[in-house]
Amino acid sequence: MAKISIHEWFTRKKKAKAETEAVSARLDIPGNLWIKCYKCSATLFIKDLEANLKVCPKCNYHFKLSSAERIKLLCDEGTFKELNAEIRSTDFLGFSDSQPYQKRIEDSMLKSNLMEAVITGEGQVSSIPVALGVMDFSFMGGSMGSVVGEKITRIAEHGMEHKLPVIVVTASGGARMQEGIMSLMQMAKTSAALQRLREFGLPYIVILTDPTTGGTTASFAMLGDIHIAEPGALIGFAGPRVIEQTIRQKLPVGFQRSEFLESHGMVDVIVNRKDLKSTLTKILRFYKD
Ligand SMILES: [Zn+2]
Repeated sequence: MAKISIHEWFTRKKKAKAETEAVSARLDIPGNLWIKCYKCSATLFIKDLEANLKVCPKCNYHFKLSSAERIKLLCDEGTFKELNAEIRSTDFLGFSDSQPYQKRIEDSMLKSNLMEAVITGEGQVSSIPVALGVMDFSFMGGSMGSVVGEKITRIAEHGMEHKLPVIVVTASGGARMQEGIMSLMQMAKTSAALQRLREFGLPYIVILTDPTTGGTTASFAMLGDIHIAEPGALIGFAGPRVIEQTIRQKLPVGFQRSEFLESHGMVDVIVNRKDLKSTLTKILRFYKD
């Protein structure tokens, strides 16, 4: 392995981050017409990419979708009604890292135009009513704090109350460290709510998207009756480097990607984005009949 100085290591990381930010910024600026695929580096016309549901036509790389785009993809037009939109995060620990948590929340709201990292509500998928939760990576990396845990719990309870199947689309960097142990407690809370849903005999379907990691994977993302994943999604608990350092072994190629998880029984089916709604419909009909 080539040796790099500590200084170089930091600047390399910063450079890579700046490049990623520049690319994601390009996705959102209307005047900008082209984007480079992260995987195959093909130059893509943004309008074509959007018409293709943000999937690279050259290599099938699935770009991230916002929660609004995801709801539009899955729900019948005009059927989604948001629930519990008013719940907000607060900085109950008075936590501050490079900036106070309260400021981070406010900045995230402005930047993402969202109030939290998950949107929950009721909608219809091919005329079948469902309770739906969709995570959004653009709000603090889809991190799970007490609001995300509460909204997931409430949507499971809403499913029980109205006898609806529950679907959750995950996209998360893990537990939100700014809320300390309260974030970790959400793992137990959501898991308990989903256990009650199971006892009610209602289906719980998880759609795993890139990336789904940390405490989210360790709780509601991996408790589905059916796990669907988008191709190539990163799904795991700890990052590969941490695992390699801990077990002192090299990890196999493709570790923590959808395909690897499918071949090891953690994911039931990998579905291309264009087939997601029709597959979900089939599964919902199977449970309904
Ligand atoms: Zn590509």
